Amino acid sequence: MPSSIRNLEFIILGSGTSAGVPVIGCDCAVCTSPDPRDNRTRCSACLRFIDPKGQERVIFIDTSPDLRQQALRHKINRCDAIVYTHNHVDHTFGLDDTRRFNVVMGGPIDLYADRHTIESLHRVYRHIFEKEKNINDSFVATLIPHLIEPKQSIDLFGLRFTPLELLHGRLPILGFRIEEIDSGDSPSDGPLPLAYCTDVSAIPPQTWSKLGGLNTLVLDMLRYRKHPTHFSVDQAIDASDRIGASQTWFLHMTHDIKHEELDPQLPEGMALAYDGLVLNSSSI
Ligand SMILES: [Zn+2]
Ligand SMILES: [Zn+2]
Ligand SMILES: [Zn+2]
Repeated sequence: MPSSIRNLEFIILGSGTSAGVPVIGCDCAVCTSPDPRDNRTRCSACLRFIDPKGQERVIFIDTSPDLRQQALRHKINRCDAIVYTHNHVDHTFGLDDTRRFNVVMGGPIDLYADRHTIESLHRVYRHIFEKEKNINDSFVATLIPHLIEPKQSIDLFGLRFTPLELLHGRLPILGFRIEEIDSGDSPSDGPLPLAYCTDVSAIPPQTWSKLGGLNTLVLDMLRYRKHPTHFSVDQAIDASDRIGASQTWFLHMTHDIKHEELDPQLPEGMALAYDGLVLNSSSI
């Protein structure tokens, strides 16, 4: 019998655009909304599960500036790997806070990113990656960077991450198709296979073939008006329709989008994500 992962949860840690919602200095209906689903921290997600050897694992997708708050909210006390979509600061500037996971776990954290993102992280976080040059011996994260080749999948604790080449305006970035490496003969009843596609304005031709047979799609939907680097509401619905996952969750939303207004109007099988949304076998 194939050993498989158990108790998998895919957690939407943050569902908001780069400024978060509420945005500073705004008293619009969404920024002052009492609905907790309109309160959006910066985008990231994590997978929490028991690996085939029986060990609990947590894999972060991106490290938003709100990582500390997100980890506390979900009582996440470990981080076995971080997988990055791209180098924008709303997806990376929580990296410093991962040092607490080093302390709790007593070891380094593996970090996976494309070349552009690794170079950028190295430049911004010199105090982490060139620790020996710090004036004082200080408490910084211990990270082991690994390069993601866009055409090569990475296997982590029983899960396979296949990079999905996406366009974020003119910037090539990565989404990920995530599935069990060895799920046996039984079809998955959980959120996998899942594709996480944040910060996308176009899906290049070579990526479409990797988006078939999804149980879950997590997709960028910024606002109603068009934007040069993100899908609008209409574009996101069109792309979701074409991809045809069993369920789509939209994220990276601005304060233009009021959850209770838009969510009921979405086509069947599509919904707005919100901070703290947990996808597991019972939510499918
Ligand atoms: Zn972003
Ligand atoms: Zn507002
Ligand atoms: Zn971005």
